Amino acid sequence: MAWFGSVFALAVLAGSLASYAFHARAHYEGIDRALIVAVRAVTRDGAGESHFTHIAGQQGVALVLRVYENGRIQARTPGEAAPDVDPRAILARPAGPAYGFIPALAPSVVRRPQAGGTFGIIYDGKQRWRVYVERGGIGSAAGAAGNGAGPYDFSGGNGGTTAGTNGNGYVVAMAPLGPLDNSMAEYRVVLTGVGLGGSLVAILGIWLVAGRALSPIARLTETARAIAASRDLSRRVTATGRDELGLLATTFNEMLDSIETAYRLQQRFVADASHELRAPLTAILGNLDLLRRRRDIPEEERQEALEEAQREAARLSRLVADLLALARADAGMPLVLRPLDLDAVVLEAFKEARALSADHEFVLEPFEPVRVAGDGDRLKQLLLILLDNAIKYTPSGGRITVGLRGDGDRAEITVRDTGVGIPPEDLPHVFERFYRADPARSRDPGGTGLGLPIARWIVEQHEGDITLESEPGRGTTVRVLLPRTA
Ligand code: ADP
Repeated sequence: MAWFGSVFALAVLAGSLASYAFHARAHYEGIDRALIVAVRAVTRDGAGESHFTHIAGQQGVALVLRVYENGRIQARTPGEAAPDVDPRAILARPAGPAYGFIPALAPSVVRRPQAGGTFGIIYDGKQRWRVYVERGGIGSAAGAAGNGAGPYDFSGGNGGTTAGTNGNGYVVAMAPLGPLDNSMAEYRVVLTGVGLGGSLVAILGIWLVAGRALSPIARLTETARAIAASRDLSRRVTATGRDELGLLATTFNEMLDSIETAYRLQQRFVADASHELRAPLTAILGNLDLLRRRRDIPEEERQEALEEAQREAARLSRLVADLLALARADAGMPLVLRPLDLDAVVLEAFKEARALSADHEFVLEPFEPVRVAGDGDRLKQLLLILLDNAIKYTPSGGRITVGLRGDGDRAEITVRDTGVGIPPEDLPHVFERFYRADPARSRDPGGTGLGLPIARWIVEQHEGDITLESEPGRGTTVRVLLPRTA
């Protein structure tokens, strides 16, 4: 604002100065020009006294003409009352321009004839007079100019009769500068007033407008600072208007929404992770404590306690591995994808899963060779997660069907089971971290609620798609689509 105000004030100042300089110089030079032309009308064209008023009238300036001969006024504009002037004094001490140093800075815009005489300035006690003196008399320069026939050549007549070519003659033209001096003084006052007043009004206006325009930014800054100090991400700025600042405020709020969501998810993740880690630890510690304190417990109970501790330790280990996998995923480390035979990966995972459970019927159908660009270890992990879920949530005797086929530019993997299924209200949440549908129904301690989130991350890294269909009591089908390569 200060910058703009200064620039504006400078521009006004420069404009005022330029306007004044051009104006003043043009007016003062106009007078000089009129004086030269008038004197020339006398010396060159030979205009006599009876034409002095006419010459003055033609120049549009209240000028007075005098012809001096031997120190006496020989002819003059009728009725003039200009102050006395000594032409020799003017010639002896020529004056500079009638204007000051500021108009001198402006270029001249008046076309002035070459002055053969001398300019002077005299002061009569009331005002300044501009005086122009040329040596000679009426018609004295006619021959020299080689151009006797001019607008004031009144043919012979008095031409040359009073010609003062003997060196004692002077033709003098004078014009009062008072009116122009006054007018210029007034002009200076007006320009100064307008310049100062204009600058002041402009600065005031800019200040008001800038204050209003910038207040949303001030509010934004305040809110950002308050959030930084309090870490209260629920605060928002009030967005007003549809202009850039309104848009900025809206975007700022959207950014806060996104940060708040991420922050809450992170908080929940840490809380859930701690909670999940504590459960197996409590079980292990409880069993160890039991074994240490009571030496007389039956062998059967002792075995049970040991087995539970082992199971929980295994679960803890799985949980830590899963958390590590998700932490890597969150850190944004991209997988390295290489062309591979997806059928080999699927077959390997299928065999491993089949070895884990003797209580289920395993079917591999359809099974086609398909190549994809992928990370073999991760794809196997994906299949094991899906197969592990199928085993966990399918009662003994159920069937688990794995399928692989190429479909156009896609590879499709399906893992289908005839298990308990997922209630429709849980279906949208199963990809959330630590989410488990109805924990009561699956008392299996193996679940961590992290399997499907990891599975989805692996699929996303392969630019694929994973969907889950389920019918409670009848079974679940997971379908994974991956881009195929040659
Ligand atoms: P978990 O370790 O508990 O299996 P997941 O993220 O793999 O965690 O799965 C989340 C939840 O989705 C499970 O707790 C379970 O309720 C449900 N779910 C996943 N797969 C199946 C399935 N094949 N059949 C029934 N429910 C399933």
